[in-house]
Amino acid sequence: MNSPRTGGSLRDLRQSNAIRVLDLIANQGPMHRAEMARRANISRTTITTITRDLVERGVLAEQPDRANGKEIDGRAGEQLAFSPKAGWIAGISQILDRICVRITDLMGQEVSSTDGPVGATDGWRVRAEAAVDLLDSALRKGGGDRGDLLGVGIGLPGQINPVDGIVHGALADQPWNGINARAEMNRRLGIPVFIENNVRLETIAEAKWGAAQGIQDLMYVNMSSGIAAGFLFGSELFRGALGGAGELGHVSIDVNGPACRCGNRGCLVLFAGAPAILRRLEATLGPSATMSEVLAASASGDRASQNVLAEAGSMVGRLLASMCNLLNPQRIVVGGQTSLAGPVILDPIRDNITRFALTPSASLDVVASALGGGPEAGAAGGAALALSKLTTSPQMLSRLLDYTRATAS
Ligand SMILES: [Zn+2]
Repeated sequence: MNSPRTGGSLRDLRQSNAIRVLDLIANQGPMHRAEMARRANISRTTITTITRDLVERGVLAEQPDRANGKEIDGRAGEQLAFSPKAGWIAGISQILDRICVRITDLMGQEVSSTDGPVGATDGWRVRAEAAVDLLDSALRKGGGDRGDLLGVGIGLPGQINPVDGIVHGALADQPWNGINARAEMNRRLGIPVFIENNVRLETIAEAKWGAAQGIQDLMYVNMSSGIAAGFLFGSELFRGALGGAGELGHVSIDVNGPACRCGNRGCLVLFAGAPAILRRLEATLGPSATMSEVLAASASGDRASQNVLAEAGSMVGRLLASMCNLLNPQRIVVGGQTSLAGPVILDPIRDNITRFALTPSASLDVVASALGGGPEAGAAGGAALALSKLTTSPQMLSRLLDYTRATAS
């Protein structure tokens, strides 16, 4: 009965079941064996065999179930999680003038993070080298090197074509336009690289670690210099055919309005983006005021700043009301520097949705980002993106097994 063919297929089955176990933990977090068996539709005996092997290899480790308190009957009270020694993942997010790096273990616990400035007019090569330097410095800070990394998720401005990996800018002058960022960063780093638009990464981070945990249908909006969105439908990031879904700032709200850099007229960003807010406050705060100063003025009760921010919120809210009628999300999370104004901007967004959206969406949650909603959130999202690829990227999976084998020996 034990022909090589049967033995081979049994091994394949065990291996594919092991991958399902890893996939569950990567995407759902720590889990009891019984729940694992139920979710993966695998017998308890098989789960016990697979998890024992993965614990012995140093890939998984048992941890007390903190959510449910005390142990039930010894081992049954333990959850299985990735071992803190199973390697690290990294996230990098690049915005116009700053790059943020975050290194975590496979459970999302931060190992180290860092950030640094880039020039707003720096090209992609300068940005690529700066990202590599910051990553290496964060690794040193965490007491490791690139050998400890299983993969890295990188966020960039622009639309990343999911088929050819080429970055296409919504605007003609974005630094990575026309470049295969995945290939370029992979060549420089020598580890598996995954590229995504930076606002889409913030969306992933909010769903995994932030203000949208457990939310399956999410609209995330970043309000800063630009205005952009990310969508989760059925817990999956929606990219669109060419990676262009979410360019909210370039929806025209006034066809006779001023010309935009994108070639359109009256785009939302021209009225509610940070440069527009600053311009409208020039008379009261001066021509060189920054967004941080506007936020501070608003927080200390400056009515002019509060009114301009509230009007920006109203304009975004009116457009989101239409988006809600089209897409009916469960929750809207607002991030980006402008969102740090808090209720001054969130209340008008919520009020306009209540007023203009149809009944099913009129009472949905509108909440602030729990992760700051800037490039720090994008870097966390980069790590989450890399983690989500752990079992589907053969390179990451083999790095995981090689790494734990080397650490165990
Ligand atoms: Zn535009």
